[in-house]
Amino acid sequence: MKKDKLHFNSKTIHGGQQPDKGYRAVMPPVYLTSTYAQSSPGDHQGYEYSRTHNPTRTALEASLASIENGKHGFCFGSGMAAIDAVVKLLSPGDEVISTNDLYGGSYRIFTKIFQDLGIVFHFVDMQDPANVAAKINVKTKLIWVETPTNPMMNVVDITAMSQLVEDRDIYLAVDNTFASPYLQQPLSLGADIVMHSATKYLGGHSDVILGALIVRDTTLAERLSFIQNASGAVCGPLDAFLVLRGIKTLHVRMQRHCENGEKIARFLADHPAIDRVYWPGFESHPNHEVAKRQMNGFGGMISFVQQNDSLEKATQTLEKLKLFTLAESLGGVESLVGHPASMTHASIPKAEREKSGVVDGLIRLSVGIEDNHDLIADLKQALK
Ligand SMILES: *Cc1c(COP(=O)(O)O)cnc(C)c1O
Repeated sequence: MKKDKLHFNSKTIHGGQQPDKGYRAVMPPVYLTSTYAQSSPGDHQGYEYSRTHNPTRTALEASLASIENGKHGFCFGSGMAAIDAVVKLLSPGDEVISTNDLYGGSYRIFTKIFQDLGIVFHFVDMQDPANVAAKINVKTKLIWVETPTNPMMNVVDITAMSQLVEDRDIYLAVDNTFASPYLQQPLSLGADIVMHSATKYLGGHSDVILGALIVRDTTLAERLSFIQNASGAVCGPLDAFLVLRGIKTLHVRMQRHCENGEKIARFLADHPAIDRVYWPGFESHPNHEVAKRQMNGFGGMISFVQQNDSLEKATQTLEKLKLFTLAESLGGVESLVGHPASMTHASIPKAEREKSGVVDGLIRLSVGIEDNHDLIADLKQALK
């Protein structure tokens, strides 16, 4: 039985994995080593130095390649380090097109680091592919998609984006952190590069920072492998182990995130104190049809704004919540709540973020896998 032919729910456990060569350990040992003995100069078993390769990292990279329907995985010390590696494929003068409601850290590295090095960024509303098409020219080398977007839950049509780059020398990269490969597999929809903050759903337990890239093309893989080794922003073996362990339950966790997400989205939509709820599962969501086509569910990320919203009102609600912990990040087993304007998106100028809907009253939930009755009871008391 070929392991890459398995269904997704089996690939999370077996994809790319084999018993360890030493003692046939079922889980890969955590190879806490920087170097490997050679029997003669250059005579080794594929491992020379742990910045370049480490067997625990290899096991995680193979797992990621399998669950994303890719061929090559690359792991980094954080999601940001993975993004950094992608932009290093470019040269000064090259242009990038990205979404106007982007993860704050991505916006920051693009505009505060790579723009100064001569790379040009355009931020457009990607819900309409025509806006992207209008910015494409001979200098365009990368289209950077995030879908669903953070925190507005807009959905970008990945297939439409891939049609725009067809026969052009442009990479299509998708930040798949919010959806996770359980809900969406961008390489199968025509993307060239998938990026993850594995810190979120892949790790799933809020105990590790790690980033990843997955590709199919061998030439692109060679370039990324060179950058990974040359820049050196790799993850440690223990972190690789933790994410690998997280991936083994990704499918069961995601199933519950989706169930709880739906219950809570509908509870909020019916609540008199709520003005609007952003969740791609609603039929009224502007990109619901695209979401239905490219995703296998709608996830547990929800944003909302209360009636007569204000910073004070949002702060009150955030302080009253007990089971939802006020914290940065998302995708863990525990429910978290965040305030994008002051937390994840504080690095985006107020006028800029309000244009895309990130007002001071916006609250973002990462719905965990607790009993949804308890989560709803918590929201009820906080909204009273
Ligand atoms: C968290 C996050 C990142 C950055 O990942 P880190 O692991 O925190 O460096 C990038 N994109 C999205 C959508 C994220 O949520």
